[in-house]
Order: sequence, then structure tokens, then C-alpha cells
Amino acid sequence: MANTRAYAATSPTSGMAPYSFDRRALRPDDVAIEIDYCGVCHSDLHTVENDWGGSQYPVVPGHEIIGRVTAVGQDVTRYQPGDLVGVGCMVDSCRTCSACDSGLEQYCIEGSTMTYGSLDRHDGTVTHGGYSEKIVVSDRFVVRVPENLDPASAAPLLCAGITTYSPLKHFKVGKGHKVGVLGMGGLGHMGVKLAKAMGAEVTIFTRSESKVAEAKKQGADHVIISTDKAQMKAAADSFDFLLDTIPVAHDLNPYLKCLKYDGTHILVGLLTPVEPALQAGLLVTKRRVVAGSLIGGMPETQEMLDFCAEHNITCDVEMLDIRNINEAYERLKKSDVKYRFVIDMDTLKQG
Ligand code: NDP
Repeated sequence: MANTRAYAATSPTSGMAPYSFDRRALRPDDVAIEIDYCGVCHSDLHTVENDWGGSQYPVVPGHEIIGRVTAVGQDVTRYQPGDLVGVGCMVDSCRTCSACDSGLEQYCIEGSTMTYGSLDRHDGTVTHGGYSEKIVVSDRFVVRVPENLDPASAAPLLCAGITTYSPLKHFKVGKGHKVGVLGMGGLGHMGVKLAKAMGAEVTIFTRSESKVAEAKKQGADHVIISTDKAQMKAAADSFDFLLDTIPVAHDLNPYLKCLKYDGTHILVGLLTPVEPALQAGLLVTKRRVVAGSLIGGMPETQEMLDFCAEHNITCDVEMLDIRNINEAYERLKKSDVKYRFVIDMDTLKQG
């Protein structure tokens, strides 16, 4: 009898269904966690449907995990049973390369081990994520969740939060900067809250008229309807940074025109080729930059959680019964979620 209940996809078209498997026995540096909440990221859907290729089935998604420690391995000193902790997108890396040495495990030169769909570096098994009742993770890849954050609405910070925090910090976004956030979904609404807390003037670019009032409620200073050519034209040459969370190929050129000279367009949503092609002239004539950014390292993930605790920032969430995960994916495809589904793992235990 397998020791862990979960939900998994068995093929790109199977949908999600109950599944069970064995979590490993504790290694000396491991932390065992009973999962209370897990956010539903668009990456889960990309992986389930094999949008990026290479998905390993069965896929147990979930990398926005919050729960309580139930046991620790003999070498673990930082955590003890009862601690409120989180696990994000990575569970291991080589730990010796220059990136790992700098706390940038997401850029591990050998490639980091992702929370789901990766091969465990020690036993070669496929990793399984947080749509499950428990997880066992090396202590280096566990973070402490400040007790003043509501755990359900803090869960998405482990991916949506750090993915937007990390580039904003890296590019030193702050007071005096104009930041545009492209797409108001899970990542986008966190980008607004974090950039505002860092002191920037923030504009949401959305396709959805219906999100204008919402965007203001999230703290956005301005909203641009990206499908309105006149609004896009009026925004020409005005932004220092664009944080692009759009999950599918889209024309970057109209957005590049909105950057000032030396402005930076930061891609976080797109992992597939840029189509249609970039007009190089838009970069060359204004020294504009197109950059990318992947989640964040472990020290920075802890820093982000502490920043959120200090500024009272969490995600806007819709609580989800795991038995409704397939319907939730359909709504996610239509951008019909405000702004992150979070699975209440009690619903898994209820069968
Ligand atoms: P969501 O689906 O929650 O939000 C994406 C938003 O993008 C939507 O709400 C919508 O906003 C906009 N959008 C969706 N489709 C289109 C389209 N066809 N054209 C223009 N805009 C569109 O996704 P997440 O925020 O969870 O994830 C966003 C992307 O980031 C995903 O691809 C995910 O895999 C990736 N990701 C990247 C990470 C990294 O480390 N770089 C880490 C985690 C996720 P609106 O309705 O306002 O237009």
C-alpha cells in the first residue's frame, strides 16, 4: 500500500485523477512535511498538458507548498516538528557550482532538480509535487513561513511571489521607476503588489476591460488595455521596466515601443520561441534590453517571504477542493481566476 495520496495526470489528455505513491524514507538532511495548501500555477497546467515537451507521466504537479514539519533527518538543525514551512519549485541542485555557491540554485550549471517531473539526484526516481498529502525535501530547499502570513494565501508566494520578486530585485526596481506588468493572473497580480511595495509606479497591461477596477484594487496606479492601439501608442517611450507574465507566444514589439531608452523587458511567462520575430531596430535605436528570469534562489525565497511578512503581502486566492482540479484548469485556461487557486489539502484527505 503506497504511503501518499495524491492527484496525477497519466498523459497529456488524461486529466487529473486520484493516485498514490511512496514518499522516500528520511535521508539525514531531509524534512518531512504534511501539506496543508498548494497553489495551482499555470506551469502545472503546461506540464500536465506537455506544452514544453518532456513531461514525465504520471505527473503529480504542485510547487507552491505550505505545511507543517512532521519529522526531520538526523543532520537537520534548522527545523523541527510543528514548524510552518514552504517548498517552492526546486528540491535539489548540484550545490557545488558557482550559481549554487551564490545561492542561485535555480541557475545550477548541472540543472536544478525541480519539485515535480525531475529525476532525483540520489535514487533516479521522478519527483512528485504538492498535489499530495506529504512531501520529503532536503532542508536546503525548505523555507520558513512567517507565522503572521495566512498560510493559504501565502502558498503562491513560493512560485508566483518569488518569480516576480527576484527580477524586480535584480534590476533594482524602486522609487522613481515606472514598471509595467503584462498579464494580470497569478504572477501578474503579485508583480503589482511587490513592485508597489518597492516604491515603483505600476501599470497593468491587460486584455480584459473587466480587470481594470480589480487592477486598481491591487494597487496598480494605471491600467492599459493592451488590445487598444490608441492606449498602447500613448504609452510609447514611458517605462523603465516591463515584467511580462503572459504564458503564450505574443507580439513583443508593441510592448518594446513602450520602453524608454535603456528600458528592460523582462520575460518570465514565456518559455517557448518568441513569435512573431523581434524587430531588432526597436532594441538598437534605444539600447533597450530583453531579459528573462527564472524563479529565485533559496536565500532570496526566504528574503521574499520575510519582505511579504513585513509589508503584509499575500496572494488573492480562490480556495479549491482538489476533486475540482480539472474544472479549475479549464478556468485557468480562460484566465478566469482571481488570482490563484489554492488547494485545501484537507479535501484530498476526505477522499
Ligand atoms: P495565469 O494564467 O494565472 O496568468 C497569465 C495572464 O496572462 C492571464 O491572466 C492573462 O492576463 C494573460 N494572458 C493569458 N493568455 C494570454 C494571451 N493569449 N495573450 C495575452 N495575454 C494573455 O498564469 P501564471 O501567472 O500562473 O503564469 C504565467 C506564466 O509564467 C506561465 O507561462 C508560467 O508557466 C510561467 N512561470 C514562469 C516562471 C519563471 O520562473 N519564469 C515561474 C512560474 C510560472 P489578462 O487577462 O490580464 O490579459
